[in-house]
Amino acid sequence: MQHDIILQTDPRTAGEPRELRKRIAKELKIHPEEINDYRIWKRSVDARGSKVKINLSIKIATGDDYRLPTLFSPKEFHSLDSTAPSMIIVGAGPAGLFAALKCIDSGIRPILLERGKDVDSRRKDIADISRKKEINPASNYCYGEGGAGAFSDGKLYTRSKKRGDNEEVLQLLVQFGASPDILVDAHPHIGSDRLPRIIKAIREEIISCGGKVLFSTKAEKIIFEKGCAVGVIDSDGNEYRGAVMLANGHSARDFIKRIYSQGVKMEAKGIAIGVRLEHPQQLIDSIQYHNPSGRGKYLPAAEYSFVTQSGGRGVYSFCMCPGGVIVPAGSGEGELVVNGMSASARAGDKSNSGMVVEIHPEDFPEYAEKGELALLTFQENLEKDFFEKSGGSINAPAQRMVDFIEGRKSVSLPKTSYAPGIHSDDFSSLLPPFISERLKDGFRQFGKKRKGFLTNDAILVGLESRTSSPVRLPRDRDTYEHVEIENLYPVGEGAGYAGGIVSAAIDGMNAVKAYKKKLENI
Ligand SMILES: Cc1cc2nc3c(=O)[nH]c(=O)nc-3n(C[C@H](O)[C@H](O)[C@H](O)COP(=O)(O)OP(=O)(O)OC[C@H]3O[C@@H](n4cnc5c(N)ncnc54)[C@H](O)[C@@H]3O)c2cc1C
Repeated sequence: MQHDIILQTDPRTAGEPRELRKRIAKELKIHPEEINDYRIWKRSVDARGSKVKINLSIKIATGDDYRLPTLFSPKEFHSLDSTAPSMIIVGAGPAGLFAALKCIDSGIRPILLERGKDVDSRRKDIADISRKKEINPASNYCYGEGGAGAFSDGKLYTRSKKRGDNEEVLQLLVQFGASPDILVDAHPHIGSDRLPRIIKAIREEIISCGGKVLFSTKAEKIIFEKGCAVGVIDSDGNEYRGAVMLANGHSARDFIKRIYSQGVKMEAKGIAIGVRLEHPQQLIDSIQYHNPSGRGKYLPAAEYSFVTQSGGRGVYSFCMCPGGVIVPAGSGEGELVVNGMSASARAGDKSNSGMVVEIHPEDFPEYAEKGELALLTFQENLEKDFFEKSGGSINAPAQRMVDFIEGRKSVSLPKTSYAPGIHSDDFSSLLPPFISERLKDGFRQFGKKRKGFLTNDAILVGLESRTSSPVRLPRDRDTYEHVEIENLYPVGEGAGYAGGIVSAAIDGMNAVKAYKKKLENI
C-alpha cells in the first residue's frame, strides 16, 4: 500500500534516516520494519517560531507495495533531420540553452552564437579576475557558455506561478547532472561548483542531436528583409540565416545599443541599484534560527529575505547567498559591479545579499534625453564612476553598516569574501542620495524586524547594479514575436522578461513553443 503523509519534525529527526523511519512508523501506527520504502517528496524549513521545524511531504510503501513513483523522469532528445528549419539564438545563457533544448524537442535546429568562451575556459578567466584584478571583456562572470547563470549562485526559485514550467526546467537540470534534491527542496539550490558540469552536458546533448554551439562568436547585427528578421551577422562578417532569438542577457549593453540603432523598438524599464551586504554567516544563523549557538549539524546555512517601502520605492534584499562570496561581476573594462554566489555546500563563513532600491526612468530626469536608453546609460555611468573613484580598479569601496547609516567612513574594515579586495569609502557620497537615503531607511527598518541584523559587523560592498534589464523589447503575448519585427524573438533577462535562471529558461522555451506553433500554421 502507498501512503502519503505530511510531517513536521525537528531538524535532527529529518536529518537522520533511522529517526525519520521511526517517526513515520509512529505516524502510520505501524512497526518501522513494516516500511518497505519511503521517499521525501517535498521539504522546507520553517524558522518562524522559536523552534525550527522541518516540513516534509513523504510517500511510503508498505505491505505488498515495494515501489514508489520516481521524482525524476528523463526526456529523450532525438537527432534533427536535414530539413529542420534553423533558429539563430544569440547568447548561450539559461534562456538560450533551454531554448536550444526546446528547439531540438520541436524539430528545429538551434544555432547558438555565444560571444564568450566555453564553460571550462571561462573558469580560468574568472579565477584571473580576482588574481589580476582585471576583467576580460570577452570572458567573465556574464559572458561565456552558461551566461550569467554558469558561475551564479544557482538558486532556482522563481516567482512564476506556472508550476509545470518550473518543473520542466528542474527535471532537465537533473537530467543533465543536478542533484534530484532540487525537485524536493522548497528553495532549490545547485551551487557555482556544480553548474558548469551541467551546462557542458546540455551543450553536448545539443550538438549530438545536430544543433550548433559557436563560441567566441559575437552577434553584431540583425539581418532584415522586408521588415522581417532573417538572420544575424557576427563581428567577423559571417552570416547565419533563420528565425532570430535574442537571448543576450542584460549585460550586453554594446549589442543592445547596436540593435537599437538598427531600429529595434525598445522601452526603458525600471531597475534596482544598491550594494552587497555581507554578514558573518554565524550571525545570520543565530538570528534566523533563534539560537545563539548557530545552525547546528542538521540545518542549512540560514537565508533571509527583506522587503519594505521608502519614499514610494521598494527597498529589498536580492539574491541572498548563504555561506557564499561576493564576486566581481562586471563584463567590461572600467566598470565596477559586484554580485554574489555560493558553492553547493554553502559552507563559507559569510553570507551576502544584494540590498537594492527600486528606481524608475522618471527618477532620473537628467537622463531623459537618452530616451529608451535612459536607465541603461545611468547604470553604465554609475558603474564607471565607482571604478574611477576606486582609483581605476575593481578593488571595491566598502563601509560598515552602522557607519553608513551614521554617515561616516569606517576606520577599519572586517575581512571580506570579495577576493579583489576592498577599501573604505562612504556610500552616501558614492550613490545618488535618492538611493543612499532609501537604503539607510531600509536598513533601519530591517534592523527593527530582526534584532542583531543592523550591526557594524556587517559591511556594504558596491556596486550592485545588474539586478535586471534597463530595457524591455516589446513582444506579442502569444506569439512571442517582437511587436514590430516578424521572426524576431526577444527572450530572457536582457529582453526584460526574466529575473533569474529558471524564469529565463522558461521564457526561452516558451518562445520556441510559440515559434513551433507558427511553423505548424504556415
Ligand atoms: C554572480 C551571479 C549570481 C547569480 N545568482 C543567481 C541565482 O542564484 N539564481 C538565479 O535565478 N539567478 C542568479 N543570477 C542571475 C542569472 O544568472 C540571470 O538571471 C540569468 O543568467 C539570465 O539568463 P539569460 O539567458 O537571459 O541571460 P545571460 O545569462 O546573461 O546570458 C546571455 C548570454 O548572451 C551572450 N551574449 C550577449 N551578447 C551577445 C552577442 N552580441 N553575441 C553573442 N552572444 C552574446 C552572453 O555572453 C551570455 O552568455 C546570478 C547572476 C550572477 C552574475
